[in-house]
Amino acid sequence: MELWDIIFDNHMHLREDGYNIEAARQFEHSGGTAFNLVNLPNHELPAADYYENVYRKTLKLAEMVRRETGVKVAVTLGPYPLDYLHFSSHVGNIKEFILSGIDRAVDLILKGEADALGEIGRPHFVTDEKTVEDANDILEYAMEKCSDQDIPIILHTEDLTGDSYKELGEMARKAGFDTGKLIKHHAHPKDFSIDSILLKSVLATRKNVRESLIMSRGFFLETDYVDDRSKPGKVIPADSVPKRALMIKNQYDDWEDIFESIFRDIPVSVFGEDTLF
Ligand SMILES: [Zn+2]
Repeated sequence: MELWDIIFDNHMHLREDGYNIEAARQFEHSGGTAFNLVNLPNHELPAADYYENVYRKTLKLAEMVRRETGVKVAVTLGPYPLDYLHFSSHVGNIKEFILSGIDRAVDLILKGEADALGEIGRPHFVTDEKTVEDANDILEYAMEKCSDQDIPIILHTEDLTGDSYKELGEMARKAGFDTGKLIKHHAHPKDFSIDSILLKSVLATRKNVRESLIMSRGFFLETDYVDDRSKPGKVIPADSVPKRALMIKNQYDDWEDIFESIFRDIPVSVFGEDTLF
């Protein structure tokens, strides 16, 4: 089904042992044309060469989708915030371990193999002070590193308040990360009442789409599809973004303006035209 020239999902995961190509085909058949593939943590892998292994697997999955479907794939690589908790008992210096994961991701992005750094940030649940402190140091390091290179950052954090949006915006400013390519993954429609330099990416449920469109036209839609065969109902299905696109087309008179903004202008401003078309 063709809905429009670009229908973009800003946050998907695929697994080697998941539905992978099948999920990508389902997305394509519903009218999806491009998505951002974010690496998943795999804590069954050993700490040695962990990031190299996880990133290579993700890049392989992206290649597979490009080869087997007509879907365009942007790739986001980076240390998942919970890696810190998992690997702290496996490695000598956990902070250095995570920073090495950031460095390797940035290397691959600069070589043109991937497009963005993420999902990095802070655990989404309450942890001890030291974990949050280190997470913030790591984030600052990442922002400084990405600022000169124009690399987008996908943030995974706790649900943000006005204060924490401000805190992260300040952090970015201090790091010289003023590219407008800082994206809050898993933002909520209520976040649109908060003025922030962070771009918001919203889970593509019907309710979220309706509520977000009342407040804004400047956001991403995402599924956060996790491709887990053992938990099929855990998140919304792989074709949710194209399905929401169809809903918008059917229910909004100005659907073309909406499509133009959330599927073309915003994604292209972050990932570039060559990656998405
Ligand atoms: Zn995710």
